[in-house]
Amino acid sequence: MPELPEVEIAARSLAPQVEGRTIVALERLTWERMVETPDHERFRMLVVGREFRRVYRRAKWVLLELDAGWTLAIHLRMSGHLIVQGPGVEVRHHVHLILQLSDGGRLCFDDERKFGRVRLLDAAGLAALDAAHGPEPLAESFTPAVLASILAKRSTRLKSLLLDQRRIAGLGNIYVSEALWLARLHPRLPAEQVDFQGVTALHSAIRTVLQQAIAHEGSSLRNYRNSYGRRGQNQEHFLVYDRAGQPCSRCGCPIERTVIAQRSSFVCPTCQGA
Ligand SMILES: [Zn+2]
Repeated sequence: MPELPEVEIAARSLAPQVEGRTIVALERLTWERMVETPDHERFRMLVVGREFRRVYRRAKWVLLELDAGWTLAIHLRMSGHLIVQGPGVEVRHHVHLILQLSDGGRLCFDDERKFGRVRLLDAAGLAALDAAHGPEPLAESFTPAVLASILAKRSTRLKSLLLDQRRIAGLGNIYVSEALWLARLHPRLPAEQVDFQGVTALHSAIRTVLQQAIAHEGSSLRNYRNSYGRRGQNQEHFLVYDRAGQPCSRCGCPIERTVIAQRSSFVCPTCQGA
């Protein structure tokens, strides 16, 4: 599933292709559950004629700011990706939503597994979406003290806490595994037991793995593509994720796969000793 770096790259690659363009038609909506709000008639009525002002990211949402106070919020979930295609290009089978743009381009939401979601939000809706998520780990305001306050007095396992979007935004299974290895912390450790040194290491590790993944244009495990249809390269640089049985690059001990919070975790039993 795309996480913060992939969604960041999706937004960045989409921006120059849609900003300043107007939506001239809702050309296709073949998977109705994709649009969560408002109902489809209203969605069509409100979205046509709107101009894209800005594309950015919050947590794992791509946010497309429109004129008249509306924002199109898109969650890629398991397999979704956004792509802009020129006129006359054959649209792929899994494209369930197409917005026609004033320059002849078509913004397509391609989603093989159909878990992706779209919401058209007014200012209050956008504020609610923002409030439902914890701080952005790459924001300047995300300091070690902020992370310490998130971990304090919580007996939840580190892994579960870091995956919880209400506590901290944008992390998923890949980057939690990577950050915990880098910080030498075991995913099963209760959050409140991380000492100050551990918090500082984890803070630095989270930012490092996210920044490196963005520099590599995200991780493409299955379907992920940026908005030009290009794969990311970060999967070539994984530290522990999906590397069970391979030697830890720090100590040589084989990486182990365990299941925590119903998700695969990859840990070095020596460096991240439980
Ligand atoms: Zn190791």
